[in-house]
Amino acid sequence: MKKKLLITCLLVSLLMFAGCGKSVAQQSVLENARKTNTITWGVKGDVKLFGLIDVHDGRQKGFDVDMAQHLTKHILGPQGKAKFLTVTSQSRTPLLKNGNVDAMIATMNITPERKKVVDFSKSYFDAGQSLLVPKNSSIKDAHHLNGHTVIGVVGASSAQNIKKISPKAHVLELQDYAQAMNALKSGQGEALTTDNSILYGLAVQNPGYRVVGGTFTYEPYGVALNKNQKDFVQAVNKALSEMEADGEYNQLIKKWFKNVPGFDYRALYRH
Ligand code: GLU
Repeated sequence: MKKKLLITCLLVSLLMFAGCGKSVAQQSVLENARKTNTITWGVKGDVKLFGLIDVHDGRQKGFDVDMAQHLTKHILGPQGKAKFLTVTSQSRTPLLKNGNVDAMIATMNITPERKKVVDFSKSYFDAGQSLLVPKNSSIKDAHHLNGHTVIGVVGASSAQNIKKISPKAHVLELQDYAQAMNALKSGQGEALTTDNSILYGLAVQNPGYRVVGGTFTYEPYGVALNKNQKDFVQAVNKALSEMEADGEYNQLIKKWFKNVPGFDYRALYRH
């Protein structure tokens, strides 16, 4: 009898050990999300139109945040909950790799370098890099920035792109978009560069500034997920396709971009 008990205990501990032995990379983030009925998303807190903290209630609001809410319902069902953690361009990858968030939806474009460390869903928004300048600036586009100081944000891909186009431009990188805008206002640089979608949000908040030069890169945004989470990537892609097919996607585009002066929101419609 005692022997039987001993063998059972041994088997149970072996099974437990096997379960606990799974490394973070081997665990299914999607399975855990289904168990807790919750997906934790990383979203921006300093980017109007995509993820901006509303000072009245302390909550992040924007297109990325709404997309995360809708994707969660498609993936987990109508009772599924979305939780949010605020990230910056620089903290996105480390927070995802550390498991602080399950998925990242934070104006993050799909690049070959980033694909070496994280996986991406298919693209869910088409942006392109541009410039924001004071309305009286003589700067017209990104090809004539040599000798000028251009402001960007640490962790964003925008600074390297400027260096390719105007190699003698001086780039000043700040921690987030609030600081970058302040630097532009106080004359620490002559232009601010990032995606047009983010710059239009800044132009809405700062009427003395305008977006110039069209777009000089293609920046498709993707949902970033950890490596070895194929089921999660598939679930996000399926949810995106459903949102595009049933008009939810276009409704969100209209909600956030319809009233942005100079922005052709209809060009972003899908289907
Ligand atoms: N889409 C660019 C990037 O992911 C710039 C926007 C941002 O800083 O989030 O690097």
